[in-house]
Amino acid sequence: MVSCETVQIKPPSRNPIKDKMIACVQCETPFVFTAAEQKRFLNLGFGIPKRCAECRKKKFKAIRISERRKHNGNKRQGWRKDRELEGM
Ligand SMILES: [Zn+2]
Repeated sequence: MVSCETVQIKPPSRNPIKDKMIACVQCETPFVFTAAEQKRFLNLGFGIPKRCAECRKKKFKAIRISERRKHNGNKRQGWRKDRELEGM
């Protein structure tokens, strides 16, 4: 008798969320996208983050600075107009 025992190892039906390693698109530093963060991002409807925490901070800072620059730029433009008028 030949007993053919095939042990089937079924993969877990549920796909537990695991920590992911993602390379930052900006500085190329690999960072961990933790399971907890993944759940939070899914709940908020966000995709997978492309930037590491540091670059995200920098991005937010850059946005703040550019907003400030916009205000200054308006002032400067006004000043430039005055000079242009003087030249005329
Ligand atoms: Zn980065």
